[in-house]
Amino acid sequence: MKQQQLFEREPLPWELADQDDLACAQLVFNRPVDKAFDYLVPDHLRSQLQPGQRVKAPFGRGDRLAVGYCVGLERPKRGEGLKSVHSLAEPRPLLTAHMLTLTRWIADRYLCAWGQVLETVVPAGVKNRAGTREVLMLQLDAELRAASRGAKLPPKQAAVMKVLEAAEKPLPLEQVARQAGCGTAPITALRRKQFIRAFAERTEPLEPDASPATKAPNLILNADQTQALERILAALREQKYRTFLLFGVTGSGKTEVYIRAIEEVVGYGRQAIVLVPEISLTPQTIRRFRSRFESVAVLHSHLSDAERHRHWQQIAAGNVQVVVGARSAVFAPTPHLGLIVIDEEHETSFKQDTTPRYHAREVARKRAELEQVPLILGSATPTLESWRRAREGTDELLRLPRRVAGLPMPPVVIVDVRHDPMRRRGAAIGRALHAAMLGALEAGGQVILFLNLRGFSPVLWCRACGVAVKCPHCDVSLTWHKERREVLCHSCDHHQPPPTACPSCGDSGIQYIGVGTQRLEQEVRSRFSRYSCARMDSDSMRKPGSHDRTLEAFRLGETRILLGTQMISKGLDFPNVTLVGVIDADTVLHQPDLRASERTFQLIAQVAGRTGRSQKGGRVLVQTSCPAEPSILKASQHDYAGFAEAELEHRRQMKAPPLEHLVRVIVRGPDENAVLSEARRLADLVRAAIAAQDLPVRVLGPAPAPVARLKGNHRFHFQLSSASFDYLQQLWRTVHDELKPAGTVEFTVDVDPINLR
Ligand code: ADP
Ligand code: ZN
Repeated sequence: MKQQQLFEREPLPWELADQDDLACAQLVFNRPVDKAFDYLVPDHLRSQLQPGQRVKAPFGRGDRLAVGYCVGLERPKRGEGLKSVHSLAEPRPLLTAHMLTLTRWIADRYLCAWGQVLETVVPAGVKNRAGTREVLMLQLDAELRAASRGAKLPPKQAAVMKVLEAAEKPLPLEQVARQAGCGTAPITALRRKQFIRAFAERTEPLEPDASPATKAPNLILNADQTQALERILAALREQKYRTFLLFGVTGSGKTEVYIRAIEEVVGYGRQAIVLVPEISLTPQTIRRFRSRFESVAVLHSHLSDAERHRHWQQIAAGNVQVVVGARSAVFAPTPHLGLIVIDEEHETSFKQDTTPRYHAREVARKRAELEQVPLILGSATPTLESWRRAREGTDELLRLPRRVAGLPMPPVVIVDVRHDPMRRRGAAIGRALHAAMLGALEAGGQVILFLNLRGFSPVLWCRACGVAVKCPHCDVSLTWHKERREVLCHSCDHHQPPPTACPSCGDSGIQYIGVGTQRLEQEVRSRFSRYSCARMDSDSMRKPGSHDRTLEAFRLGETRILLGTQMISKGLDFPNVTLVGVIDADTVLHQPDLRASERTFQLIAQVAGRTGRSQKGGRVLVQTSCPAEPSILKASQHDYAGFAEAELEHRRQMKAPPLEHLVRVIVRGPDENAVLSEARRLADLVRAAIAAQDLPVRVLGPAPAPVARLKGNHRFHFQLSSASFDYLQQLWRTVHDELKPAGTVEFTVDVDPINLR
């Protein structure tokens, strides 16, 4: 509470106080304690130390030196007994005042420690200055030189002095030696005479990539795009924070609207951040931005530390106009931010699933507010959280209800496969889909098949005892991967040869049931042997570049059928795709997750977006055993609003998000009894605090987590829910010091959880 006031309601202390008086630094360390510690600043560091800078200071048991973040400077409240800052970790601050405020907010919002957040927002490559090296710089010592003027020097030493005199600034040792035509010996001699001084300096990270020369021209926006853009430009010109929900069907030209808004921002000399799901960081997307702007930095998860450091420096120096990246790009150190865009805002990858478990959309919202810039959230299938805010007027709804160039939405046909003869014989592709595929392929079109289970068979089932074979470390069924000739756990790294007998009863009659992408590929190859086929999933796309190669072959028409997991459900824009088949819409629907319906709707709407992108048209076949399911029905009618309203009402009755805020506490450990008793103890503590303060917060549980065992740990969870997050925050502050789990038990806190496993 105190810290929040410090940063939100009062001026920052270093804005008020006279620099000379500041002798006490508040340091935050990367530990799960949400507390700042006071340290004295020694005189020689006083003029250098600033908030946002990392320092070394004695910390914890044995007073070992630890790296901490300076988050504030003040007059000392008590001088005695304070430890002193030891040294600076780097010469300049890594975080601006805005970033300090933002990270403090994240710690409060996601109930974690400030130090954990600070540690996350600065990339490791920046902290260890990856890609730079230390060089020895040489400089004349003018005073000594004056005192000994006229001293006779051997010719090589004289040559060195000449080079340095001409330079008038420090030079790297290597350069001096080269220009003076000597080795290091004369330089060492001069250093010993103290005629020259030497000091170590870091080189700058590499220069940015050159941008492509040809710029693509602007398209002429249609009426819907123009109207949306006008609203955004108005906010940009006012330099005010506002969140827009750009709700546009797939292929409605959302990206074009972002690009135009960014052009305006770049025209002001400011920078834009565009967040996209990692999976959409395809060459197609990147090319689109690179062809429209001079300098684009792309931050994806495969960057080396050195590349990440280089981008960070370039961004911080203001040399980058547009930052395109996955979740963590929301922390890009743009000096004059002008706009944030989140494309496909419904994607779950915007939530981080390790501490700090932030959602990039909420962080972006806060950052946009702090820096008074607009935020655009774009989606064809917004989350109910965003839909509700737009509907209630907190955010502004902008609609692109039609595809560009008058293209219609593709018809979506629901195929009830409960009595399908081919499915009964174990095939993945039923009769209707088979016929549709043949029709599309014979007419020269291309086909996309979607199935979100990788491997060959997702279930190994014992006929004798009726039990599925599970991972020895997790409560998760093992999947048969025929290509590797192994069974795999998709939750941990466990893999083993396929069991010859059932681990529960010893029977040898284990059956491999269900269809994964590998088996689907085998089926397609045998039933459509005249047509070329490619599979895209995380197993087949292991090698770097294979993703781009596969998509390129499909774009060129060398591949006629593309099948795969989530990887192919979004973003792809291929005009010749005239049929999309969803092999099994029920896999998502039957997950134990409050958002199962929402995800099913999103999935169908997104895959439908992969077809009908040219005059050739296209259609979608969705195989399901639940044809009456509202999410499937509404998706087939392209009726997002109808689905969202009904689902919001359902959530209201269920007291579920977005009408309630959830905090999920997961308790885990190797000993099941210990975990359960700790989970009970923690939940009881929370219940007592709720009763004592009379807070409108509900507690559910503890109960075994849906995945009751993971990586060898038993898992229980309980959930807190309330209509207002403030109550949850208040509750957490009062209990969190007491929630110290004992022994081998640990717990994690997930605010607004998305993964409920
Ligand atoms: P979304 O992001 O909504 O899926 P895109 O921005 O990718 O849609 O647009 C789909 C396609 O339509 C792209 O190939 C894009 O170049 C094109 N497009 C967008 N706006 C226009 C326009 N005003 N006129 C012509 N083509 C457009
Ligand atoms: Zn496992």
